Amino acid sequence: MKILSGLSLKEIEEITDTLGASKFRARQIHNWIYLKSVSEIDEMTDLSIKFREELRQVAKITDVKIKVKQESSDGTLKYLLKYPDGECVETVLMRFDNRANLTACVSSQVGCAVNCSFCATGKRGFIRNLTYKEIVEQVLTIQRDTGLKVTNVVFMGQGEPLLNLDNVLKAMEIFNENFQIGARRITVSTSGIVPQIEKLAQNDMQSTLAISLHAPNHEIRAKLMQIENKYPMDELKKALKNYVEKTGRRITVEYLLIKDLNDTLESAKQLVNYLHDIKCNINLIPYNPTEKNDYQKPSGNSIMRFKSLLEQSGKKVTVRLERGSDIDAACGQLSGKTGK
Ligand code: SAH
Ligand code: SF4
Repeated sequence: MKILSGLSLKEIEEITDTLGASKFRARQIHNWIYLKSVSEIDEMTDLSIKFREELRQVAKITDVKIKVKQESSDGTLKYLLKYPDGECVETVLMRFDNRANLTACVSSQVGCAVNCSFCATGKRGFIRNLTYKEIVEQVLTIQRDTGLKVTNVVFMGQGEPLLNLDNVLKAMEIFNENFQIGARRITVSTSGIVPQIEKLAQNDMQSTLAISLHAPNHEIRAKLMQIENKYPMDELKKALKNYVEKTGRRITVEYLLIKDLNDTLESAKQLVNYLHDIKCNINLIPYNPTEKNDYQKPSGNSIMRFKSLLEQSGKKVTVRLERGSDIDAACGQLSGKTGK
């Protein structure tokens, strides 16, 4: 039994060939899967009933199940999806002001080996990589379930995308070609895997690279993220500068704000200094408390003060809106609670 979701046009043609149907049928099926996102082969109404029946004998649309679905008061939807081997990941759909912009936040791995101290996913350890089909399937599930077309994708769910780079790149290609989501509408967020950032620079990646910096200096970063000991901030900086130079793209720097730990005046100064010669925007993320550590969320005042200190350096700074906080829609939180 073939799973249609995630197949390229060519792979669908192989199926229609074996059924003795024309290539045009493959194109129709492809559209039903990626652009109209049907849940059943029977909904492919421009195929004859007979052909649909033949297709049903050899293929089905998906083998992924929605295990949990939560809707937040702000419209954010969060899914816990279950793959046939029983492993689960989360996927979130965020709707910004207008419906024209629908962003899917996808996972790239089950669990994560990087084990940052503030992150619920990291606490589970690494379980396995997702295949590109399993990544693509997350967006298809959202589209099938909501009947809406996803316009943007961010790799900010579970897992470290740059430690599963081949599958992530292949999924991005499919988002691009099959879903018609432009490269610039795709963001890959990384904890800072230096050799892989260099690989992306060589690839001339046109998607946005977001880097989870989270700290203004080595000491604080090492406390938050073990990866700092492997790829320290000075090496990371070289890789980021090289990336900007090679691709011409501005990067996004993510900075998790934690009360009294990295939200001080001194931290802001050091951060400005670190970033002064890197072409970037800054996205401040107020820490979202998880049950498993003692970090605290900063006050609204301290967030605003930190923001304006950074803005004085001329950088564009945004504060990540808290989306879906009433349904645990921050990284790793749903599966952290319901995990297997
Ligand atoms: N592994 C990649 C991408 C997934 S995490 C990375 O770390 O960049 C996506 C973002 O969510 C990261 O910036 C991560 O630091 C952040 N995050 C993790 N736990 C969080 C928490 N408890 N509160 C707020 N943001 C969190
Ligand atoms: Fe992994 Fe990202 Fe969580 Fe760190 S923040 S443990 S890299 S998923």
